[in-house]
Amino acid sequence: MEQRLTASVLIVGGGPCGLMLANELGRRGVSAVVIDEKPGTAFNPQANATQARSMEHYRRLGFADEVRRAGLPVDYPTDVAYFTRYTGYELARFELPSSAKATELVKGLSGSWSAAELPHRVSQKFVEAILRRHAERLPGIRLHYSHRLAGYVARGDGIVAEVESFNDGRRVRIDADFLVGADGARSMVRQSLGISYGGLTGTRRDFMGGRMLAVYVRSPDFYASVPHPKAWMYNCFNRDRRAFMASVNGRDEFAFHTQLQPGEDESAITAAEARAAFQRACGAPIACDVLSFLTWTAGHALVADGMQRGRVFLGGDAAHLFTPTGGLGYNTAIEDAVNLGWKLASVIKGIGSPALLDSYERERRPVALRNTDYARRFADSLGLFAAAAEIEEATEAGHEARRAAGAYLDEHARAEFNIPGVTLGGRYDGSPIIISDGSAPPPDAANVYVPSACPGGRAPHAWLDGRVSLYDLFGFEWTLLQFDEAASDGGAIGEAAHALGADLKLVTVPRNLRGLYEADLVLIRPDQVVAWRGSVAQARALGGVLARALGHSTDDQARLAS
Ligand SMILES: Cc1cc2nc3c(=O)[nH]c(=O)nc-3n(C[C@H](O)[C@H](O)[C@H](O)COP(=O)(O)OP(=O)(O)OC[C@H]3O[C@@H](n4cnc5c(N)ncnc54)[C@H](O)[C@@H]3O)c2cc1C
Repeated sequence: MEQRLTASVLIVGGGPCGLMLANELGRRGVSAVVIDEKPGTAFNPQANATQARSMEHYRRLGFADEVRRAGLPVDYPTDVAYFTRYTGYELARFELPSSAKATELVKGLSGSWSAAELPHRVSQKFVEAILRRHAERLPGIRLHYSHRLAGYVARGDGIVAEVESFNDGRRVRIDADFLVGADGARSMVRQSLGISYGGLTGTRRDFMGGRMLAVYVRSPDFYASVPHPKAWMYNCFNRDRRAFMASVNGRDEFAFHTQLQPGEDESAITAAEARAAFQRACGAPIACDVLSFLTWTAGHALVADGMQRGRVFLGGDAAHLFTPTGGLGYNTAIEDAVNLGWKLASVIKGIGSPALLDSYERERRPVALRNTDYARRFADSLGLFAAAAEIEEATEAGHEARRAAGAYLDEHARAEFNIPGVTLGGRYDGSPIIISDGSAPPPDAANVYVPSACPGGRAPHAWLDGRVSLYDLFGFEWTLLQFDEAASDGGAIGEAAHALGADLKLVTVPRNLRGLYEADLVLIRPDQVVAWRGSVAQARALGGVLARALGHSTDDQARLAS
């Protein structure tokens, strides 16, 4: 017999995007069903780095500390290191802090790294398990693994989906108001909408451009066999076997990725050959078990031509596909979910106008284009730089080749793995729900982030008394920020928020933070993006501002502004 389920949102795909969206919706009391054809969260490590902005969102949801404890031991250094082979010569090393140090360090940083959280080097598999655990606890959220979307029909008033259960072969009918395709690179939902990826694909490089072999290995002898300090990211740089490898648990598990050479037949790769590829990069027959292996393609910089058709949305890899340099694929997926989450919830609860949903693609697609381009540039920098023939020789020429490669790779590492501009500097300029004050945003640069309250960007962060994160004071939904005697009682906007049913928190912080925001009053969205800033004299218009930020018509804006 056919089973029937109903929910406000059907999320197809329980990867990072789908699970984060379930958390955003569930925290707002919106019901959602997540289906995934896999039996559970990822077994393979997948992505290796959670960027600072994703960590700030996990902090907002209350589980950043849990994520920071996951994966590597808290005192494990997260260095990025380059070797000819792992037991061979060390060429370069960019030292980065352990997770325990990062938690303390961030409280003393300013400028580019003025943030509530620093990046965390952790395998995606651990993050997915945490996202799942928190989603499952939320009333209204149901997760169905081993369930595959077979098809759906989108009507004017909702979605009817047909889902297949792999547990008992039963069909499940799901009725929902909205459908979100967070179903990865081969997205059936994207294809059903007739939306294609645009951009670059098939880029060939010496590394990070071509078919790659991913091997999940267990090697209890690795650390004892390698005559170098521990690192998080082990790069192998020579003419024969280029690779990168992330430490997964700091004890014995590693995510090893190597580029297949022309002529290597991937269809014939066995576990023994996967082990041999790892040992070649080690430069020694270090014992290991192959836990899994698969092939994938590096060299994409693809963005879907659209991210919404009516009641159907795309997020994550379904909407953009990266080369993993810079570690941006999963992190961009998380921010899609954050952006869509509060908007869907607002519309479903009748707080936002349906037009609010049109801003999702307007805001996120330009960021996807920007981020895939940054990842492509990092891939060019690393992958077009090839090793000299003599790099492994114990000769003067070999020494010189290693010195030159080390200098280049050191500079590259600092460009690819210190990216506050990429992670904190994404902006929504031009969005219809951002109220510009005519100021110009700071220049976009990968390695420099200039805190700015110019509407459309992340609200500048500060530590109060060096201990309390400004973000921890913000409301879960809307925040009106003022500075000591700015003298708004939140009256006009409070009334408008009440009329719209929106949850708004008035936050008063010390006057010395005013310079960071350069305004008396700042309206901050649920995703911590500045929607508007202005003077006390403009406070009366704030009701209209909030109405616009929630996608309401100009008539409603005028009514609420008065
Ligand atoms: C080997 C490998 C290494 C990677 N390394 C990095 C890295 O170093 N840095 C980085 O940033 N990114 C990396 N990535 C990419 C990163 O893993 C993705 O960007 C991220 O997983 C995207 O999340 P998502 O939720 O959009 O999609 P996914 O994680 O792909 O999740 C999509 C989910 O949808 C499910 N699904 C698909 N179709 C259906 C259907 N019809 N019905 C039900 N369920 C369905 C799938 O089972 C899957 O669980 C790597 C990926 C791979 C494969």
